[in-house]
Amino acid sequence: MQKIRIGIVGYGNLGKGAELAVKHNPDMELVAVFSRRHLTETNSGVPAVFLADVANYREKVDVMLLCGGSATDLVEQGPQLAALFNTVDSFDTHAKIPGYFATMDQVAKEAGTVATISVGWDPGLFSLNRLLAGAVLPQGTDYTFWGKGVSQGHSDALRHVPGVKEAKQYTIPREAIVSAVRSGQNPASSSAESHIRDCYVVAQPGADLAAIETKIKTMPHYFAGYETHVTFLSEEEFQANHTGIPHGGVVLRSGKTSPAVGHVIEFGLKLDSNPEFTSSVLVAYARATYRLAQHKFTGACTVFDIPFAWLSPKSGEELRRELL
Ligand code: NAP
Repeated sequence: MQKIRIGIVGYGNLGKGAELAVKHNPDMELVAVFSRRHLTETNSGVPAVFLADVANYREKVDVMLLCGGSATDLVEQGPQLAALFNTVDSFDTHAKIPGYFATMDQVAKEAGTVATISVGWDPGLFSLNRLLAGAVLPQGTDYTFWGKGVSQGHSDALRHVPGVKEAKQYTIPREAIVSAVRSGQNPASSSAESHIRDCYVVAQPGADLAAIETKIKTMPHYFAGYETHVTFLSEEEFQANHTGIPHGGVVLRSGKTSPAVGHVIEFGLKLDSNPEFTSSVLVAYARATYRLAQHKFTGACTVFDIPFAWLSPKSGEELRRELL
């Protein structure tokens, strides 16, 4: 059987995770890693190719995994690459997904390619579970709790505070609220009320620690309105205890089918490495994207549009026998 030929665009955390994930899927092979930088080598030894030369690989790659950042990379690279390849990306700026979908849909339809967008865990697996739970329990309330885990965006925001040398922010759900939902109660709780922001900060020598703490706790959109803890620590302690990228969370729906009969649906993730997990989801969706292309589908799609069975390397017959 011919293997699905995969390319990776962008060699950051997600790109390196994707490189590992492809290895766990015997029906796939990694052709090359494409980067805007002139990389001399990759962790797996597959060729590193300058991104400007990507068009030369049109006939050599079946599905391109777009591993750039959502803030600035994907909005530019997504349409450029969907014009040349079938693509899978993890675009996660929730408010901009409808616009990004429209752009990718138009480009992919014109090019005759498939563009699977916003794959990962949120958006991605969490979105699927919100859809499923809402369809099964129309009378109910959705809850999403993130963490405990590292928020890259909030960690970046900390690093921009004057006097901060290095920093990491963990988002932690409030256990009391999670437990209340699990026990069938429907607490009214905003995202700010449901989560704590825990910050670990290495200050520049001689920096005013009180000023840093105030600046962090009053930062609009990021920390203001949240219970925020700031812990200062040495660079050595930071390197020893805070270099990982764990994450996770739970999606819950609490609903009723008659006045005294309640149900709770829960889906949870506990991830040692956010990028290694997210890229594993991308790779599974690369298989489905390949199958969509074989079925002559063109245009953009999301996790909502793809049959579950197409994520698996197993045949329909095997799935019905082993998993149904
Ligand atoms: P990252 O490590 O910052 O990498 C982003 C891009 O920056 C890379 O593709 C790479 O492009 C460039 N880069 C990486 N290291 C660099 C370096 N040392 N010097 C210069 N450039 C470098 O970001 P990431 O952690 O992989 O995350 C990528 C995106 O994944 C995030 O923005 C987020 O939107 C998304 N994500 C989605 C989910 C989800 O559930 N949907 C979950 C997690 C993450 P070049 O190789 O071309 O330079």
